[in-house]
Formats: sequence, C-alpha cells, structure tokens
Amino acid sequence: MSADDPIYLDNAATTPLDPTVIEVMTRSLAHEGGRGNPASGHVFGRRAAERIEAARAEVGALIGADAADIVFTSGATEADNLAVLGAARAEGHRGRHLVSSRIEHKAVLDPCRRLERDGWTVSLLAPDRSGRIDPGAVAAALRPDTVLVSVLWVSNEIGVIQDVAAIGSLCRERGILFHTDAAQAVGKLPMDVRSLPIDLMSFTAHKLYGPKGIGALYVHAQARARVQPLLFGGGQERGLRPGTLPTHQIVGFGTACALARAALAAEAKRLSALRERLWEQLRGIEGVYLNGEDAPRIPGILNVSFEGVEGESLVTGLVDLALSTGSACNSASGEPSYVLRALGRDPQLAQSSLRFSLGRFSTPADIDTAGAAVRREVARLRELSPAAEPSGRASDAARELVGEAGGPGQEVWIRFRLRVTEARVQGASYRVYGCPHTLAVAAWLAERLPGRSGADLIPGAPAEWAHALDVPIEKLGRLLVLEDALGACQRRWSEV
Ligand SMILES: *Cc1c(COP(=O)(O)O)cnc(C)c1O
Repeated sequence: MSADDPIYLDNAATTPLDPTVIEVMTRSLAHEGGRGNPASGHVFGRRAAERIEAARAEVGALIGADAADIVFTSGATEADNLAVLGAARAEGHRGRHLVSSRIEHKAVLDPCRRLERDGWTVSLLAPDRSGRIDPGAVAAALRPDTVLVSVLWVSNEIGVIQDVAAIGSLCRERGILFHTDAAQAVGKLPMDVRSLPIDLMSFTAHKLYGPKGIGALYVHAQARARVQPLLFGGGQERGLRPGTLPTHQIVGFGTACALARAALAAEAKRLSALRERLWEQLRGIEGVYLNGEDAPRIPGILNVSFEGVEGESLVTGLVDLALSTGSACNSASGEPSYVLRALGRDPQLAQSSLRFSLGRFSTPADIDTAGAAVRREVARLRELSPAAEPSGRASDAARELVGEAGGPGQEVWIRFRLRVTEARVQGASYRVYGCPHTLAVAAWLAERLPGRSGADLIPGAPAEWAHALDVPIEKLGRLLVLEDALGACQRRWSEV
C-alpha cells in the first residue's frame, strides 16, 4: 500500500476484473470462437453465437430471467437510456408523464430531462431522510397519462435498497411500465425477476468484476412491444439493440455473472462483516453521520459524513485510499452530492461525505488501515480549522493582528495571525477550512508574510496566486476570501 498503489475502496464506481474473467476473455479473443461474426451462418459464426448464447444464459440465471429476455447493451447507461427513451417512444401515444426519483443515476435523470425538453412531464420523487422512496409517494404521483416509472434498486451513493416489489406492483396493477436501474444490485442481492413485477431492468458487467463496455437490459417478454430501439441497423437483439455483438465482452460478462451467482451468499455475509468492522472504527469520531442509517442497505457500501471537514480536502489527504466523496469537486455538476442533499443533509455535511465501497478483494487489513487513516485525517483537518480555536481574538501577550474571513458553514473559513514588531511581520500562522487549493494557497501566503510591512502586507493579487499554484479559475472566489482576511489584518495594523 502506498500513494501509487492505494487501497481500493471504490468498487461502486467500478470493480477490478476477476482473474478468471481476464483468462476467459483472453482465450475468447485468441480463440477461433472469437473470429466469426455471430450473425454469420458458417462455422466461425456459429461458434461465436454458441458462446454468446451460453453467456446469455449465465447472465439470465444470475437475475432469474429467461435468456431470451436479456438484451445486450454497452453498459447500464445505454440500458437506462433504452428503457426510458425507448419506452417513451413506444408509449408516448398513451400519455407523456414519467415518474422517477431525485436519487437516480445521471443515466436515468438525463434522459428524463431530455424528454422534458420534448414536452414530457417528469415527477421526480424525493427520498425520505433514510434514503427510501416511499411506494405510497409513487402511488400518489401516478396519473392517467403516466407511461413509465423508473426507480433505482440500489443507490450507488448510499447503498440504500428500494422496495422495487411494492413499487412494481403499483405499476403493474395500473398497466404502467416499471423500470429499475439495478447496476448496484445485480450480483449483490439475491433476485428472481420472474417473480417480481419488473418490466425493464438495467445492469452492467463492470460493477460485478466483469469488463467495462458491456451490460444488459432485461426486458420482460410482455414488455417487448412497449419499447422502441434507439439504434437501427442489423436487427440484432430482436431489433432492440442492433450491432455486431462483441463476443469476448459478452463471454466475460457471462463468466462474471456465473462467479457472482456462486459467491453471492457467502460474499454478502463477508462484506457485511467488513462494513461493520469499518463502521466500528469510524463511529467513535465526533460529529460522524452514517448516511442511510435507518434503511436496508447492500453489504458493500458505507457512506459517512463528517461535521466540520471539507470533503475534497479529506479525500486528497487520504493518499493511501482510493475512494469517492460527495463533495462538489468530485462531481461533474460542481454541486455537492444531490443524493445527500435530497436526504436532507445540509450542504456542509453533503460536502464532507466519503463513500467506502468494498468488494471481492477487500480484506480486514484494508479496512483497519482505512479506518485509522480516516481518523487521523479528520483529526488533522479539524485541528487546522478556525473552529478548533477558542476565539479569533488577538492574544494580549504579544502584538498580534488577527484577520478573518468566510465563516462556519461557508466554502472557505480563514484566520491569519500575525506577530508584528518594529513595523514588520515577525511570524505568521493561520487556521483554514476549505478545499485543497484553498489550503495550499493559505500555507503559501503564510510563508510569504514574515518581513513584510503594513503597506505591502498582501503578496500580490489572487490571480497571481492562482497562477503560481495552478488553481483552477472557477476557484478564484475562494482566493478572494483569503485576500479579505489579509485585508482585515492590514486594517487592524493601520488602526494601532
Ligand atoms: C455504474 C452505474 C451506471 C452506469 O453504468 P455504465 O455501465 O458505466 O454505463 C448506471 N447506474 C448506476 C446505479 C450505476 O451504479
């Protein structure tokens, strides 16, 4: 374990390939079975098609589906798009209303937004404080013109399990299509889609130790005519997803599913124990919150928020761990986790979350190392924060100038303390809360203050600091807060 080879705790983002999957895929690529186009009638084509159909059976077996109901796609994103847009295209004549939730993956939310621009109405349900979507709220949102409900089975951020059986039943009673994004559920939870009121279900190989770039949409036989394709071409996958099937990808997916099915029960037990072990190490930290605490959750995900700690600085400080945060800088949108915000967490707590996602290759030793590292780093950042000091008043002992800007609950909180004798800064210290760039610039500034006079106290302008330390332009506002704090020191200086 080192900064170059950290402990991998990001299995909800993607899982490493199982060595058996690598072996089977490599053989498939080299083997003559990988040579033919599975749609060709000759022996090469037939061999490829046989391997694909064997894999399709394995994929179906993992979820309790007939092989015939599996449509291969490039992953869960495409499967989600095919479900939402494909159902909308096929059913749009009946109505133009969809129901989904605020905690969906972007692969569902973005197609919903796209439909809104085309004149559809989308009701996005909020979860309760534990992260659950209340089936009663789904029932209340249904309208005569509702054609599709899409609710994810397991949240990729907090691991909370939704009651898809209850939600699906409501839909089936009313003849409304029900889709669930099960990318985090398949291979983690035992399931039998045949016995559940699910019409469409998305999942993906790379969340269950298979390759990236291959996934599937389960389409219930009776829902087949109620989904239109997004692509047009060779008619493969019953015309729902044309294109030459990637034999080696599918063979890898099938193997991953077979391995997951064999390991599922024992692995769930093992991961639950590891997750508990991790929580035992973190629960003693003051101001720690377990997100989704009161809801059923899958074994491998633990999402925790820390009061008074900035998420990106926390993750950046945990150099020996590879994991995700809900902080704004981690998201493409620049907003703190919308899932945690939807749970009712304030922006600071949403910002300070860590998602630990454990997997097949996680060990107790990994968990202990991770727990100790998090405790250390949370303590270090809290000690660095202005909140750790009793007050911002200058001490009476020496001639001290204190300048502060930002504050609790804000993006940046900074306090400089300058010791001044003979009209020069003798020493400077600071306390800071903020992102890693803010921390770096504060440290850099503090080093440059000794020897300066009141008139030229501020070393240049924020744009120059940003340039010197490679701070992205969108963070310039944070550096202005640091400048404000030095400006406050300067004003004190002239007052005395
Ligand atoms: C990972 C994930 C996706 C996207 O899957 P890809 O195969 O990477 O496109 C969609 N939904 C959820 C819930 C996920 O966790």
